[in-house]
Amino acid sequence: MDVLLFLGPPGSGKGTLSQLCIEKLKWKQLSTGNLCRKHIAQKTKIGNEIDFAIKSGKLVSDSLIVTMVKQWFDQALISDNSIIFDGFPRTLHQAELLEQLVQDLDNLTLTVVRFVIPKKTVINRLCERFICKDDECQAVYSMLSGSAFAPKKEGICDACQGTLIKRLDDTRESIVQRLEIYHAHESKLLDFYKDTEHPIIELQVDKPLKEIYTDFLDKVEVNKK
Ligand code: AMP
Repeated sequence: MDVLLFLGPPGSGKGTLSQLCIEKLKWKQLSTGNLCRKHIAQKTKIGNEIDFAIKSGKLVSDSLIVTMVKQWFDQALISDNSIIFDGFPRTLHQAELLEQLVQDLDNLTLTVVRFVIPKKTVINRLCERFICKDDECQAVYSMLSGSAFAPKKEGICDACQGTLIKRLDDTRESIVQRLEIYHAHESKLLDFYKDTEHPIIELQVDKPLKEIYTDFLDKVEVNKK
């Protein structure tokens, strides 16, 4: 089984490329950010604990995230489809814990996909980003003029007709904080994956999705059935 780790700053399109892989290749995706927002919307115990961290653009504790990932991963292992981790691991400690988790599993390969994009582009994108309020959907849209990701009907999700809202952490202050956190961890994560000899592929992602997808399929050596 192939596990792809999507490593990129917020707003770099990890979720969008994941959705395309789900549609075209029937892969599975775990977005730890989506899972966190679902807990908050459903007001679970975990949701109440992480609410403040998320709104202020900080990371949720490694132990909570890894517990969530383990639960999801155990179920996902039942099928043979490739898996995308979108936004996990985000710290060196999470990467080490994931390494332990997969060490004993035969025929499992980890590939890191690094999303490369200028900071200014992601800030513009995040300021104009909207998501579907429905916690099962959370489809992402853009209000940037001329964007290919604009909803067909203003304020309404194309997929489920839910209401579009701004994420609470898509404020300028929180965006700057999240980008700083991302860059503080990125090089440690890359060093870890170099040391552990997992393949790392780089994708330039400030271009149309179709081109990114073609580039991705060319570069990634996994089962694309
Ligand atoms: P995202 O949707 O990936 O931008 O994540 C939104 C927020 O969820 C982040 O700013 C963090 O507060 C939290 N989060 C998501 N994934 C992780 C992770 N792997 N480790 C810690 N916090 C996370």
